Amino acid sequence: MNAEAKGVGLRGILKYIKLNHEPGISSLLSRLADPEKKIFESPILTSKWYPYSAFAGLLKIMDEEMGGGDLRLCRKYGESAGSLDLSSIFKIFLKVGSPQFIIKRSDWFWKQYYRPGGMEVPETSDTMVRIRIKDFPMVKQHCMVMEGWMEKSLLMSGAKNPRMKEVQCRNEGAPFCEYIGEWDK
Ligand SMILES: [Zn+2]
Repeated sequence: MNAEAKGVGLRGILKYIKLNHEPGISSLLSRLADPEKKIFESPILTSKWYPYSAFAGLLKIMDEEMGGGDLRLCRKYGESAGSLDLSSIFKIFLKVGSPQFIIKRSDWFWKQYYRPGGMEVPETSDTMVRIRIKDFPMVKQHCMVMEGWMEKSLLMSGAKNPRMKEVQCRNEGAPFCEYIGEWDK
């Protein structure tokens, strides 16, 4: 199965670029490879699936053009996206939210945005979580987006001072990307 990302994720990045990149979006899109460039020539539909290369390509160019290519902007973008996603689309969950409530649903969250692959939680307690993203060819820029996204979602579900860190990465030869999140009691 080819890796795909839902349009809602692509639209999130486009919106972030529009809001934060003064030179505008067209110069940035023009740097994409042709097949990806073509995808952005039509309106991106929220619930349609797109090739993952479009998502990954856009992230990479955003990181280079707006952040100097050191991945820090990707993490920052993840925090911003986490905040938006959780406060709007997933508001209903957060009303009864707790870190564990959201951790239990992490695989469901993944499947709203990407396919194939999934999230797995081999270990968690009331102040930590170990979480894995499996069976998906995630690019490093995206690994950092997820780090920021998950940290923010812990914060928004009531975790105090959360810290999320990728400790193993598929891009560095590990069988999956693994993150450890910790927070204060
Ligand atoms: Zn990774």
